[in-house]
Amino acid sequence: MYSESFRSLTYLTPKYLGKMSFKIARQSFKKFSTACKKVSQVCVVGAGPAGFYAAMQLTKKLGNINIDIIEKLPVPFGLIRYGVAPDHPEVKNVINQFTKVAQQPNVNFYGNIALGKDITLSQLRQHYDAVLLTYGAEEDKLLGIENEDAKNIVAARKFVGWYNGLPDARDFEVDLGGNTAAVLGQGNVALDVARIILSPIDELRKTDIPEHVLSVLAKSKIKELYLVGRRGPLQVAFTIKELREQLKIPFCQTVWRKNDFDGVSEVASALARPRKRLTELMLKSLNEHSEDSKSEKYFKPIFHRSPDKFIVDSKNNLMGVQLTCNQMAGSLDKDPKYLPTDEKEIINCSLAIRSIGYKSVNVDKDLIIGDNGAVPNDKGRILDPSNDLAKLYVAGWLGTGPVGVILHTMGNAFQVAKAIQEDLETGQSTENKGGFAEVRKAICENLKIVDWKGWENIDKYEIEMGKKLGKPREKICCVSEMLEKAL
Ligand code: FAD
Ligand code: NAP
Repeated sequence: MYSESFRSLTYLTPKYLGKMSFKIARQSFKKFSTACKKVSQVCVVGAGPAGFYAAMQLTKKLGNINIDIIEKLPVPFGLIRYGVAPDHPEVKNVINQFTKVAQQPNVNFYGNIALGKDITLSQLRQHYDAVLLTYGAEEDKLLGIENEDAKNIVAARKFVGWYNGLPDARDFEVDLGGNTAAVLGQGNVALDVARIILSPIDELRKTDIPEHVLSVLAKSKIKELYLVGRRGPLQVAFTIKELREQLKIPFCQTVWRKNDFDGVSEVASALARPRKRLTELMLKSLNEHSEDSKSEKYFKPIFHRSPDKFIVDSKNNLMGVQLTCNQMAGSLDKDPKYLPTDEKEIINCSLAIRSIGYKSVNVDKDLIIGDNGAVPNDKGRILDPSNDLAKLYVAGWLGTGPVGVILHTMGNAFQVAKAIQEDLETGQSTENKGGFAEVRKAICENLKIVDWKGWENIDKYEIEMGKKLGKPREKICCVSEMLEKAL
Protein backbone atom coordinates (compact mmCIF):
# COMPACT_ATOMS: atom_id res chain seq x y z
CA MET A 1 0.00 0.00 0.00
CA TYR A 2 2.78 2.39 1.11
CA SER A 3 5.07 1.47 -1.80
CA GLU A 4 2.12 1.95 -4.24
CA SER A 5 1.56 5.52 -3.03
CA PHE A 6 5.27 6.21 -3.03
CA ARG A 7 5.60 4.99 -6.59
CA SER A 8 2.80 7.23 -7.79
CA LEU A 9 4.33 10.23 -5.91
CA THR A 10 7.60 9.90 -7.82
CA TYR A 11 5.69 10.92 -10.97
CA LEU A 12 4.64 14.28 -9.49
CA THR A 13 6.92 16.77 -11.22
CA PRO A 14 6.65 20.51 -10.25
CA LYS A 15 4.80 21.21 -13.54
CA TYR A 16 2.30 18.46 -12.76
CA LEU A 17 1.89 19.69 -9.18
CA GLY A 18 1.10 23.18 -10.55
CA LYS A 19 -1.62 21.73 -12.75
CA MET A 20 -2.98 19.73 -9.81
CA SER A 21 -3.27 22.73 -7.50
CA PHE A 22 -5.06 24.65 -10.26
CA LYS A 23 -7.47 21.74 -10.66
CA ILE A 24 -8.11 21.57 -6.90
CA ALA A 25 -8.68 25.34 -6.76
CA ARG A 26 -11.10 25.13 -9.68
CA GLN A 27 -13.00 22.26 -8.05
CA SER A 28 -13.21 24.13 -4.74
CA PHE A 29 -14.49 27.21 -6.55
CA LYS A 30 -17.08 25.14 -8.39
CA LYS A 31 -18.23 23.59 -5.09
CA PHE A 32 -18.36 27.00 -3.44
CA SER A 33 -20.30 28.63 -6.24
CA THR A 34 -22.71 25.66 -6.40
CA ALA A 35 -23.30 25.98 -2.65
CA CYS A 36 -24.13 29.69 -3.07
CA LYS A 37 -26.38 29.19 -6.10
CA LYS A 38 -30.11 28.99 -5.55
CA VAL A 39 -31.89 25.64 -5.88
CA SER A 40 -33.68 25.34 -9.22
CA GLN A 41 -37.26 24.23 -8.79
CA VAL A 42 -38.46 21.94 -11.57
CA CYS A 43 -41.95 20.51 -11.88
CA VAL A 44 -42.57 17.40 -13.99
CA VAL A 45 -46.21 16.68 -14.86
CA GLY A 46 -46.80 12.95 -15.41
CA ALA A 47 -45.03 10.04 -13.72
CA GLY A 48 -44.52 7.87 -16.80
CA PRO A 49 -41.20 6.90 -18.40
CA ALA A 50 -40.62 10.36 -19.92
CA GLY A 51 -41.05 12.07 -16.55
CA PHE A 52 -38.79 9.64 -14.70
CA TYR A 53 -36.07 9.56 -17.34
CA ALA A 54 -35.98 13.37 -17.48
CA ALA A 55 -35.79 13.55 -13.66
CA MET A 56 -33.02 10.94 -13.69
CA GLN A 57 -30.95 12.96 -16.14
CA LEU A 58 -31.52 16.30 -14.44
CA THR A 59 -30.52 15.05 -11.00
CA LYS A 60 -27.43 13.46 -12.51
CA LYS A 61 -26.35 16.65 -14.26
CA LEU A 62 -27.38 19.40 -11.84
CA GLY A 63 -26.48 19.59 -8.16
CA ASN A 64 -28.78 22.35 -6.97
CA ILE A 65 -32.09 21.09 -8.16
CA ASN A 66 -35.37 20.00 -6.64
CA ILE A 67 -37.81 18.01 -8.78
CA ASP A 68 -41.49 17.60 -7.98
CA ILE A 69 -43.32 14.99 -10.04
CA ILE A 70 -47.05 15.65 -10.16
CA GLU A 71 -49.20 12.70 -11.27
CA LYS A 72 -52.93 12.44 -11.94
CA LEU A 73 -53.24 8.96 -10.45
CA PRO A 74 -52.28 7.96 -6.90
CA VAL A 75 -49.79 5.53 -8.47
CA PRO A 76 -46.73 6.13 -10.70
CA PHE A 77 -45.32 4.63 -13.94
CA GLY A 78 -47.93 5.53 -16.59
CA LEU A 79 -48.10 3.04 -19.44
CA ILE A 80 -45.53 0.76 -17.81
CA ARG A 81 -48.24 -0.12 -15.32
CA TYR A 82 -51.28 0.49 -17.54
CA GLY A 83 -50.11 -0.19 -21.12
CA VAL A 84 -47.31 -2.77 -21.27
CA ALA A 85 -48.91 -6.19 -21.56
CA PRO A 86 -49.28 -8.20 -18.33
CA ASP A 87 -47.52 -11.18 -19.94
CA HIS A 88 -44.40 -9.01 -20.54
CA PRO A 89 -43.24 -8.62 -16.91
CA GLU A 90 -39.60 -8.25 -17.98
CA VAL A 91 -40.44 -4.95 -19.72
CA LYS A 92 -41.86 -3.64 -16.48
CA ASN A 93 -38.45 -3.98 -14.78
CA VAL A 94 -37.67 -0.34 -15.68
CA ILE A 95 -39.82 0.41 -12.64
CA ASN A 96 -36.76 -0.46 -10.50
CA GLN A 97 -34.76 2.33 -12.16
CA PHE A 98 -37.62 4.79 -11.69
CA THR A 99 -37.94 3.82 -8.03
CA LYS A 100 -34.29 4.75 -7.46
CA VAL A 101 -34.95 8.14 -9.08
CA ALA A 102 -37.95 8.76 -6.84
CA GLN A 103 -36.04 7.77 -3.70
CA GLN A 104 -33.46 10.54 -4.15
CA PRO A 105 -33.82 13.25 -1.49
CA ASN A 106 -34.32 16.01 -4.08
CA VAL A 107 -37.09 14.19 -6.01
CA ASN A 108 -40.68 14.21 -4.73
CA PHE A 109 -43.73 12.35 -6.01
CA TYR A 110 -47.15 13.95 -5.57
CA GLY A 111 -49.85 11.58 -6.79
CA ASN A 112 -53.58 12.21 -7.23
CA ILE A 113 -53.11 15.73 -8.63
CA ALA A 114 -54.32 16.31 -12.18
CA LEU A 115 -53.07 19.22 -14.24
CA GLY A 116 -56.07 21.06 -15.66
CA LYS A 117 -58.35 19.84 -12.88
CA ASP A 118 -56.63 20.36 -9.54
CA ILE A 119 -54.03 22.89 -10.68
CA THR A 120 -53.52 25.02 -13.78
CA LEU A 121 -50.43 25.41 -15.88
CA SER A 122 -50.08 29.09 -15.08
CA GLN A 123 -50.23 28.32 -11.33
CA LEU A 124 -47.41 25.82 -11.75
CA ARG A 125 -45.37 28.22 -13.86
CA GLN A 126 -45.53 30.90 -11.17
CA HIS A 127 -43.83 28.71 -8.59
CA TYR A 128 -41.18 26.83 -10.57
CA ASP A 129 -38.16 27.72 -12.68
CA ALA A 130 -39.10 25.11 -15.29
CA VAL A 131 -42.20 23.03 -15.94
CA LEU A 132 -41.86 19.85 -17.99
CA LEU A 133 -45.03 18.27 -19.34
CA THR A 134 -44.89 14.50 -19.80
CA TYR A 135 -48.52 13.56 -19.39
CA GLY A 136 -48.63 11.20 -22.39
CA ALA A 137 -51.44 10.43 -24.82
CA GLU A 138 -54.65 9.34 -23.19
CA GLU A 139 -57.21 9.26 -25.97
CA ASP A 140 -57.68 7.00 -28.98
CA LYS A 141 -57.94 7.98 -32.61
CA LEU A 142 -61.28 7.38 -34.33
CA LEU A 143 -61.80 5.85 -37.74
CA GLY A 144 -64.56 8.34 -38.55
CA ILE A 145 -66.73 5.78 -40.37
CA GLU A 146 -70.42 4.92 -40.28
CA ASN A 147 -71.82 3.29 -37.09
CA GLU A 148 -68.59 3.64 -35.13
CA ASP A 149 -70.69 4.20 -31.98
CA ALA A 150 -72.37 0.75 -32.20
CA LYS A 151 -72.27 -1.65 -29.25
CA ASN A 152 -69.13 -3.74 -28.87
CA ILE A 153 -66.92 -1.52 -31.02
CA VAL A 154 -64.23 -0.70 -28.50
CA ALA A 155 -60.96 1.17 -28.45
CA ALA A 156 -57.81 -0.89 -27.93
CA ARG A 157 -56.76 1.80 -25.43
CA LYS A 158 -59.80 1.00 -23.27
CA PHE A 159 -59.37 -2.74 -23.66
CA VAL A 160 -55.69 -2.49 -22.68
CA GLY A 161 -56.54 -0.26 -19.70
CA TRP A 162 -59.18 -2.78 -18.61
CA TYR A 163 -56.90 -5.84 -18.63
CA ASN A 164 -54.21 -3.77 -16.89
CA GLY A 165 -56.52 -2.59 -14.07
CA LEU A 166 -56.69 1.13 -14.98
CA PRO A 167 -59.21 2.78 -12.63
CA ASP A 168 -60.89 4.65 -15.55
CA ALA A 169 -61.54 1.31 -17.26
CA ARG A 170 -62.87 -0.44 -14.11
CA ASP A 171 -66.45 -0.43 -15.44
CA PHE A 172 -65.55 -1.09 -19.07
CA GLU A 173 -67.82 -3.68 -20.62
CA VAL A 174 -66.99 -5.91 -23.54
CA ASP A 175 -68.97 -8.83 -24.88
CA LEU A 176 -66.67 -11.76 -25.72
CA GLY A 177 -69.63 -14.09 -26.29
CA GLY A 178 -69.43 -14.18 -30.11
CA ASN A 179 -67.33 -16.40 -32.36
CA THR A 180 -65.42 -13.73 -34.28
CA ALA A 181 -63.54 -10.52 -33.46
CA ALA A 182 -61.84 -8.03 -35.76
CA VAL A 183 -58.91 -5.95 -34.58
CA LEU A 184 -58.48 -2.95 -36.87
CA GLY A 185 -54.84 -1.85 -37.22
CA GLN A 186 -51.60 -3.81 -37.29
CA GLY A 187 -49.36 -2.19 -34.68
CA ASN A 188 -47.91 -3.69 -31.50
CA VAL A 189 -50.94 -2.60 -29.49
CA ALA A 190 -53.15 -4.58 -31.90
CA LEU A 191 -50.93 -7.64 -31.36
CA ASP A 192 -51.00 -7.22 -27.56
CA VAL A 193 -54.79 -7.21 -27.68
CA ALA A 194 -54.93 -10.20 -30.04
CA ARG A 195 -52.54 -12.18 -27.85
CA ILE A 196 -54.55 -11.54 -24.68
CA ILE A 197 -57.76 -12.63 -26.42
CA LEU A 198 -56.24 -15.73 -28.01
CA SER A 199 -54.01 -16.98 -25.16
CA PRO A 200 -55.15 -19.90 -22.99
CA ILE A 201 -56.67 -18.57 -19.79
CA ASP A 202 -54.29 -20.60 -17.61
CA GLU A 203 -51.36 -18.67 -19.10
CA LEU A 204 -53.06 -15.38 -18.26
CA ARG A 205 -53.78 -16.42 -14.68
CA LYS A 206 -50.03 -16.28 -13.99
CA THR A 207 -49.97 -12.55 -14.83
CA ASP A 208 -51.22 -9.51 -12.91
CA ILE A 209 -54.47 -9.26 -14.92
CA PRO A 210 -57.08 -8.38 -12.28
CA GLU A 211 -59.40 -11.16 -11.13
CA HIS A 212 -62.60 -9.48 -12.42
CA VAL A 213 -61.03 -9.28 -15.91
CA LEU A 214 -59.82 -12.88 -15.81
CA SER A 215 -63.33 -14.04 -15.05
CA VAL A 216 -64.62 -12.32 -18.23
CA LEU A 217 -61.72 -13.62 -20.35
CA ALA A 218 -62.28 -17.14 -19.00
CA LYS A 219 -65.79 -17.14 -20.45
CA SER A 220 -64.71 -15.82 -23.87
CA LYS A 221 -66.17 -17.69 -26.83
CA ILE A 222 -64.01 -16.00 -29.44
CA LYS A 223 -62.54 -18.58 -31.79
CA GLU A 224 -61.24 -16.47 -34.66
CA LEU A 225 -59.63 -13.06 -34.66
CA TYR A 226 -58.91 -10.99 -37.79
CA LEU A 227 -56.07 -8.48 -37.68
CA VAL A 228 -56.90 -6.00 -40.42
CA GLY A 229 -54.26 -3.84 -42.16
CA ARG A 230 -54.91 -1.19 -44.77
CA ARG A 231 -51.52 -1.78 -46.42
CA GLY A 232 -49.44 -4.90 -47.10
CA PRO A 233 -47.24 -7.32 -45.15
CA LEU A 234 -44.21 -5.09 -45.81
CA GLN A 235 -45.87 -2.20 -43.97
CA VAL A 236 -47.01 -3.88 -40.74
CA ALA A 237 -46.26 -1.70 -37.70
CA PHE A 238 -45.76 -4.63 -35.30
CA THR A 239 -42.28 -5.99 -34.59
CA ILE A 240 -40.69 -9.41 -34.82
CA LYS A 241 -40.60 -10.32 -31.12
CA GLU A 242 -44.33 -9.70 -30.83
CA LEU A 243 -45.13 -11.68 -34.00
CA ARG A 244 -42.98 -14.57 -32.82
CA GLU A 245 -44.95 -14.72 -29.57
CA GLN A 246 -48.19 -14.60 -31.51
CA LEU A 247 -47.15 -17.53 -33.69
CA LYS A 248 -46.32 -19.57 -30.59
CA ILE A 249 -49.62 -19.22 -28.71
CA PRO A 250 -50.64 -22.76 -27.73
CA PHE A 251 -53.69 -24.20 -29.52
CA CYS A 252 -53.87 -21.16 -31.79
CA GLN A 253 -53.24 -21.41 -35.49
CA THR A 254 -52.20 -18.51 -37.68
CA VAL A 255 -53.91 -18.39 -41.07
CA TRP A 256 -52.50 -16.02 -43.69
CA ARG A 257 -53.95 -15.33 -47.11
CA LYS A 258 -51.48 -16.36 -49.80
CA ASN A 259 -52.61 -13.59 -52.21
CA ASP A 260 -51.66 -10.90 -49.73
CA PHE A 261 -48.03 -11.89 -50.20
CA ASP A 262 -47.87 -11.53 -53.99
CA GLY A 263 -44.52 -9.97 -54.88
CA VAL A 264 -43.30 -9.93 -51.26
CA SER A 265 -40.68 -12.68 -51.40
CA GLU A 266 -39.18 -11.01 -54.51
CA VAL A 267 -38.26 -7.87 -52.55
CA ALA A 268 -37.64 -9.41 -49.12
CA SER A 269 -33.92 -10.07 -49.54
CA ALA A 270 -33.20 -6.42 -50.37
CA LEU A 271 -34.97 -5.00 -47.30
CA ALA A 272 -33.17 -3.35 -44.38
CA ARG A 273 -32.46 -5.77 -41.53
CA PRO A 274 -35.31 -5.53 -38.98
CA ARG A 275 -37.95 -5.38 -41.73
CA LYS A 276 -36.23 -8.18 -43.63
CA ARG A 277 -36.24 -10.54 -40.64
CA LEU A 278 -39.85 -9.73 -39.84
CA THR A 279 -40.89 -10.36 -43.46
CA GLU A 280 -38.95 -13.61 -43.58
CA LEU A 281 -40.75 -14.77 -40.45
CA MET A 282 -44.14 -14.03 -42.04
CA LEU A 283 -43.13 -15.84 -45.23
CA LYS A 284 -41.87 -18.83 -43.23
CA SER A 285 -45.11 -19.01 -41.29
CA LEU A 286 -47.15 -18.66 -44.52
CA ASN A 287 -45.32 -21.58 -46.10
CA GLU A 288 -45.59 -23.73 -42.99
CA HIS A 289 -49.35 -23.42 -42.87
CA SER A 290 -51.17 -26.69 -42.34
CA GLU A 291 -54.39 -27.55 -40.57
CA ASP A 292 -53.63 -28.50 -36.96
CA SER A 293 -56.29 -30.72 -35.39
CA LYS A 294 -55.45 -29.41 -31.89
CA SER A 295 -56.24 -25.81 -32.84
CA GLU A 296 -58.99 -24.22 -30.83
CA LYS A 297 -58.48 -20.66 -32.02
CA TYR A 298 -57.46 -18.95 -35.26
CA PHE A 299 -55.42 -15.81 -35.78
CA LYS A 300 -56.11 -14.33 -39.23
CA PRO A 301 -54.04 -11.35 -40.37
CA ILE A 302 -55.47 -9.82 -43.55
CA PHE A 303 -54.01 -7.05 -45.66
CA HIS A 304 -54.96 -4.29 -48.15
CA ARG A 305 -58.28 -3.68 -46.38
CA SER A 306 -59.53 -0.36 -44.93
CA PRO A 307 -62.50 -0.24 -42.56
CA ASP A 308 -65.35 1.29 -44.59
CA LYS A 309 -68.38 1.00 -42.31
CA PHE A 310 -69.71 -1.08 -39.44
CA ILE A 311 -72.80 -3.15 -40.10
CA VAL A 312 -75.36 -3.06 -37.29
CA ASP A 313 -78.83 -4.42 -36.57
CA SER A 314 -81.87 -2.35 -35.58
CA LYS A 315 -80.67 -2.27 -31.95
CA ASN A 316 -77.24 -0.94 -32.88
CA ASN A 317 -75.60 -4.32 -32.19
CA LEU A 318 -72.50 -4.95 -34.26
CA MET A 319 -73.02 -7.54 -37.03
CA GLY A 320 -69.87 -7.02 -39.04
CA VAL A 321 -67.37 -4.67 -40.59
CA GLN A 322 -67.33 -3.76 -44.27
CA LEU A 323 -63.85 -3.31 -45.67
CA THR A 324 -62.69 -1.51 -48.81
CA CYS A 325 -60.11 -3.50 -50.74
CA ASN A 326 -57.01 -1.44 -51.51
CA GLN A 327 -54.32 -1.56 -54.11
CA MET A 328 -50.80 -0.46 -53.34
CA ALA A 329 -49.47 2.53 -55.24
CA GLY A 330 -45.72 2.67 -55.64
CA SER A 331 -42.90 0.30 -54.98
CA LEU A 332 -43.85 -2.35 -52.39
CA ASP A 333 -40.72 -1.88 -50.30
CA LYS A 334 -40.71 1.96 -50.27
CA ASP A 335 -43.49 2.96 -47.85
CA PRO A 336 -46.19 2.89 -50.54
CA LYS A 337 -49.58 4.56 -50.27
CA TYR A 338 -52.78 2.58 -50.68
CA LEU A 339 -55.49 3.31 -53.23
CA PRO A 340 -59.09 2.24 -52.49
CA THR A 341 -60.85 0.17 -55.16
CA ASP A 342 -64.60 -0.41 -55.64
CA GLU A 343 -64.29 -3.90 -54.22
CA LYS A 344 -65.65 -4.56 -50.71
CA GLU A 345 -65.35 -7.44 -48.27
CA ILE A 346 -67.49 -8.06 -45.20
CA ILE A 347 -66.24 -9.76 -42.05
CA ASN A 348 -69.09 -10.98 -39.91
CA CYS A 349 -68.12 -10.30 -36.31
CA SER A 350 -69.71 -9.31 -33.02
CA LEU A 351 -66.67 -7.50 -31.61
CA ALA A 352 -64.46 -4.88 -33.26
CA ILE A 353 -61.42 -3.38 -31.59
CA ARG A 354 -60.07 -0.17 -33.07
CA SER A 355 -56.29 -0.09 -32.69
CA ILE A 356 -55.10 2.75 -34.90
CA GLY A 357 -53.13 4.77 -32.35
CA TYR A 358 -53.45 7.09 -29.39
CA LYS A 359 -53.57 10.90 -29.19
CA SER A 360 -52.93 13.48 -26.49
CA VAL A 361 -55.60 15.39 -24.63
CA ASN A 362 -55.55 19.15 -24.14
CA VAL A 363 -55.90 19.53 -20.37
CA ASP A 364 -55.20 23.26 -19.99
CA LYS A 365 -56.38 26.36 -21.83
CA ASP A 366 -52.79 27.59 -22.22
CA LEU A 367 -51.76 24.56 -24.26
CA ILE A 368 -52.04 23.73 -27.94
CA ILE A 369 -52.22 20.20 -29.35
CA GLY A 370 -51.12 19.94 -32.99
CA ASP A 371 -52.59 17.86 -35.80
CA ASN A 372 -50.25 14.96 -35.01
CA GLY A 373 -51.84 14.69 -31.54
CA ALA A 374 -48.83 16.23 -29.76
CA VAL A 375 -47.77 19.61 -28.32
CA PRO A 376 -45.70 21.58 -30.87
CA ASN A 377 -42.15 22.09 -29.60
CA ASP A 378 -38.59 22.79 -30.61
CA LYS A 379 -36.35 20.02 -29.16
CA GLY A 380 -38.67 19.92 -26.17
CA ARG A 381 -38.98 23.68 -25.67
CA ILE A 382 -42.54 24.97 -25.93
CA LEU A 383 -42.39 28.43 -27.39
CA ASP A 384 -44.29 30.85 -25.24
CA PRO A 385 -43.83 34.61 -24.91
CA SER A 386 -44.70 34.87 -21.16
CA ASN A 387 -41.22 35.75 -19.91
CA ASP A 388 -42.28 36.29 -16.33
CA LEU A 389 -43.42 32.66 -15.99
CA ALA A 390 -41.35 29.47 -15.79
CA LYS A 391 -40.09 28.08 -19.07
CA LEU A 392 -42.22 25.29 -20.45
CA TYR A 393 -41.00 21.97 -21.89
CA VAL A 394 -42.55 18.79 -23.22
CA ALA A 395 -41.18 15.23 -23.46
CA GLY A 396 -42.40 11.69 -24.19
CA TRP A 397 -45.51 10.92 -26.18
CA LEU A 398 -47.04 14.34 -25.43
CA GLY A 399 -44.17 15.90 -27.38
CA THR A 400 -43.32 13.26 -29.96
CA GLY A 401 -46.79 11.95 -30.72
CA PRO A 402 -47.93 8.48 -29.63
CA VAL A 403 -45.12 6.50 -31.22
CA GLY A 404 -42.06 4.70 -30.03
CA VAL A 405 -41.05 2.15 -27.42
CA ILE A 406 -39.65 2.95 -23.97
CA LEU A 407 -36.15 3.28 -25.39
CA HIS A 408 -37.26 6.03 -27.80
CA THR A 409 -39.10 7.79 -25.00
CA MET A 410 -35.94 7.61 -22.90
CA GLY A 411 -33.81 9.15 -25.68
CA ASN A 412 -36.29 11.96 -26.12
CA ALA A 413 -36.55 12.63 -22.36
CA PHE A 414 -32.75 12.80 -22.07
CA GLN A 415 -32.59 15.28 -24.94
CA VAL A 416 -35.25 17.52 -23.39
CA ALA A 417 -33.55 17.28 -19.97
CA LYS A 418 -30.38 18.56 -21.64
CA ALA A 419 -32.28 21.58 -23.00
CA ILE A 420 -33.66 22.29 -19.51
CA GLN A 421 -30.19 21.95 -18.01
CA GLU A 422 -28.72 24.40 -20.55
CA ASP A 423 -31.49 26.92 -19.96
CA LEU A 424 -31.21 26.67 -16.18
CA GLU A 425 -27.45 27.10 -16.33
CA THR A 426 -27.51 30.08 -18.68
CA GLY A 427 -30.72 31.96 -18.05
CA GLN A 428 -31.20 31.36 -14.32
CA SER A 429 -33.15 34.07 -12.49
CA THR A 430 -31.92 34.80 -8.96
CA GLU A 431 -35.42 34.79 -7.49
CA ASN A 432 -36.13 31.76 -5.29
CA LYS A 433 -39.25 29.94 -6.39
CA GLY A 434 -41.59 28.43 -3.79
CA GLY A 435 -42.11 25.10 -5.59
CA PHE A 436 -44.64 22.67 -4.18
CA ALA A 437 -45.03 24.50 -0.84
CA GLU A 438 -46.65 27.36 -2.81
CA VAL A 439 -48.53 25.10 -5.23
CA ARG A 440 -50.07 23.23 -2.29
CA LYS A 441 -51.80 26.47 -1.23
CA ALA A 442 -53.55 26.66 -4.62
CA ILE A 443 -54.85 23.07 -4.46
CA CYS A 444 -58.14 22.23 -2.73
CA GLU A 445 -57.43 21.51 0.93
CA ASN A 446 -59.47 18.31 0.87
CA LEU A 447 -57.54 16.75 -1.97
CA LYS A 448 -55.66 13.71 -0.73
CA ILE A 449 -52.12 13.78 -2.06
CA VAL A 450 -50.17 10.54 -2.26
CA ASP A 451 -46.41 10.71 -1.70
CA TRP A 452 -43.84 8.01 -2.49
CA LYS A 453 -44.39 6.33 0.88
CA GLY A 454 -48.11 6.20 0.03
CA TRP A 455 -47.34 4.47 -3.28
CA GLU A 456 -45.10 2.00 -1.43
CA ASN A 457 -48.05 1.15 0.84
CA ILE A 458 -50.22 0.45 -2.24
CA ASP A 459 -47.43 -1.55 -3.87
CA LYS A 460 -46.90 -3.70 -0.77
CA TYR A 461 -50.61 -4.37 -0.42
CA GLU A 462 -51.00 -5.36 -4.09
CA ILE A 463 -48.04 -7.74 -3.92
CA GLU A 464 -49.42 -9.35 -0.75
CA MET A 465 -52.84 -9.81 -2.37
CA GLY A 466 -51.16 -11.25 -5.47
CA LYS A 467 -49.22 -13.78 -3.39
CA LYS A 468 -52.46 -15.20 -2.03
CA LEU A 469 -53.67 -15.72 -5.60
CA GLY A 470 -50.37 -17.09 -6.96
CA LYS A 471 -49.68 -14.09 -9.19
CA PRO A 472 -47.19 -11.17 -9.13
CA ARG A 473 -49.75 -8.69 -7.80
CA GLU A 474 -53.47 -8.06 -7.63
CA LYS A 475 -53.90 -4.43 -8.63
CA ILE A 476 -56.27 -2.10 -6.84
CA CYS A 477 -58.49 -0.82 -9.64
CA CYS A 478 -60.30 1.96 -7.85
CA VAL A 479 -58.88 5.36 -6.84
CA SER A 480 -60.71 5.60 -3.51
CA GLU A 481 -59.35 2.22 -2.43
CA MET A 482 -55.86 3.26 -3.52
CA LEU A 483 -56.14 6.39 -1.38
CA GLU A 484 -57.33 4.35 1.57
CA LYS A 485 -54.32 2.02 1.35
CA ALA A 486 -51.85 4.84 0.63
CA LEU A 487 -52.81 7.13 3.47
P1 FAD B 1 -47.11 7.66 -20.27
O1 FAD B 1 -46.45 6.38 -20.01
O2 FAD B 1 -48.50 7.62 -20.80
O3 FAD B 1 -47.11 8.52 -18.92
C1 FAD B 1 -47.90 9.68 -18.76
C2 FAD B 1 -48.26 9.88 -17.29
O4 FAD B 1 -48.94 11.15 -17.15
C3 FAD B 1 -49.23 8.84 -16.75
O5 FAD B 1 -48.77 8.36 -15.52
C4 FAD B 1 -50.55 9.59 -16.61
O6 FAD B 1 -51.39 9.08 -15.57
C5 FAD B 1 -50.06 10.99 -16.30
N1 FAD B 1 -51.06 12.04 -16.58
C6 FAD B 1 -51.97 12.06 -17.58
N2 FAD B 1 -52.70 13.18 -17.53
C7 FAD B 1 -52.25 13.90 -16.48
C8 FAD B 1 -52.63 15.14 -15.92
N3 FAD B 1 -53.61 15.89 -16.44
N4 FAD B 1 -51.97 15.57 -14.81
C9 FAD B 1 -50.97 14.84 -14.27
N5 FAD B 1 -50.57 13.64 -14.77
C10 FAD B 1 -51.19 13.17 -15.88
N6 FAD B 1 -42.86 0.12 -25.06
C11 FAD B 1 -41.93 -0.86 -24.89
O7 FAD B 1 -40.73 -0.57 -24.96
N7 FAD B 1 -42.30 -2.16 -24.63
C12 FAD B 1 -43.62 -2.51 -24.52
O8 FAD B 1 -43.93 -3.70 -24.28
C13 FAD B 1 -44.60 -1.51 -24.68
N8 FAD B 1 -45.91 -1.82 -24.59
C14 FAD B 1 -46.84 -0.85 -24.78
C15 FAD B 1 -48.18 -1.20 -24.72
C16 FAD B 1 -49.16 -0.25 -24.96
C17 FAD B 1 -50.62 -0.64 -24.92
C18 FAD B 1 -48.80 1.08 -25.26
C19 FAD B 1 -49.86 2.11 -25.53
C20 FAD B 1 -47.46 1.45 -25.32
C21 FAD B 1 -46.47 0.49 -25.07
N9 FAD B 1 -45.11 0.80 -25.13
C22 FAD B 1 -44.18 -0.18 -24.95
C23 FAD B 1 -44.67 2.20 -25.36
C24 FAD B 1 -44.38 2.92 -24.00
O9 FAD B 1 -45.41 2.62 -23.11
C25 FAD B 1 -44.25 4.43 -24.24
O10 FAD B 1 -43.09 4.64 -25.02
C26 FAD B 1 -44.11 5.24 -22.94
O11 FAD B 1 -44.97 4.81 -21.94
C27 FAD B 1 -44.40 6.73 -23.18
O12 FAD B 1 -44.10 7.40 -21.97
P2 FAD B 1 -44.73 8.80 -21.52
O13 FAD B 1 -44.10 9.10 -20.22
O14 FAD B 1 -44.62 9.76 -22.62
O15 FAD B 1 -46.31 8.53 -21.32
P1 NAP C 1 -48.79 2.15 -34.43
O1 NAP C 1 -47.56 1.38 -34.24
O2 NAP C 1 -48.67 3.52 -35.00
O3 NAP C 1 -49.79 1.28 -35.34
C1 NAP C 1 -51.00 1.81 -35.78
C2 NAP C 1 -51.63 0.89 -36.83
O4 NAP C 1 -52.92 1.43 -37.17
C3 NAP C 1 -50.84 0.80 -38.13
O5 NAP C 1 -50.97 -0.50 -38.66
C4 NAP C 1 -51.55 1.82 -39.04
O6 NAP C 1 -51.45 1.54 -40.41
C5 NAP C 1 -52.99 1.60 -38.59
N1 NAP C 1 -53.86 2.74 -38.86
C6 NAP C 1 -53.69 4.04 -38.50
N2 NAP C 1 -54.73 4.78 -38.92
C7 NAP C 1 -55.57 3.93 -39.56
C8 NAP C 1 -56.82 4.10 -40.21
N3 NAP C 1 -57.43 5.28 -40.29
N4 NAP C 1 -57.40 3.00 -40.76
C9 NAP C 1 -56.81 1.80 -40.69
N5 NAP C 1 -55.64 1.57 -40.10
C10 NAP C 1 -55.01 2.64 -39.53
O7 NAP C 1 -49.59 2.37 -33.04
P2 NAP C 1 -49.81 1.43 -31.78
O8 NAP C 1 -50.00 0.03 -32.15
O9 NAP C 1 -50.88 2.15 -31.02
O10 NAP C 1 -48.42 1.54 -30.97
C11 NAP C 1 -47.92 2.81 -30.51
C12 NAP C 1 -46.44 2.69 -30.16
O11 NAP C 1 -46.28 1.88 -28.98
C13 NAP C 1 -45.63 2.02 -31.24
O12 NAP C 1 -44.40 2.67 -31.40
C14 NAP C 1 -45.43 0.63 -30.73
O13 NAP C 1 -44.28 -0.02 -31.22
C15 NAP C 1 -45.35 0.86 -29.22
N6 NAP C 1 -45.71 -0.40 -28.55
C16 NAP C 1 -44.73 -1.30 -28.35
C17 NAP C 1 -45.04 -2.53 -27.80
C18 NAP C 1 -43.95 -3.53 -27.63
O14 NAP C 1 -42.78 -3.18 -27.76
N7 NAP C 1 -44.28 -4.77 -27.31
C19 NAP C 1 -46.35 -2.85 -27.48
C20 NAP C 1 -47.34 -1.90 -27.71
C21 NAP C 1 -47.00 -0.67 -28.26
P3 NAP C 1 -50.50 2.42 -41.40
O15 NAP C 1 -49.11 1.91 -41.17
O16 NAP C 1 -51.02 2.16 -42.73
O17 NAP C 1 -50.64 3.85 -40.95
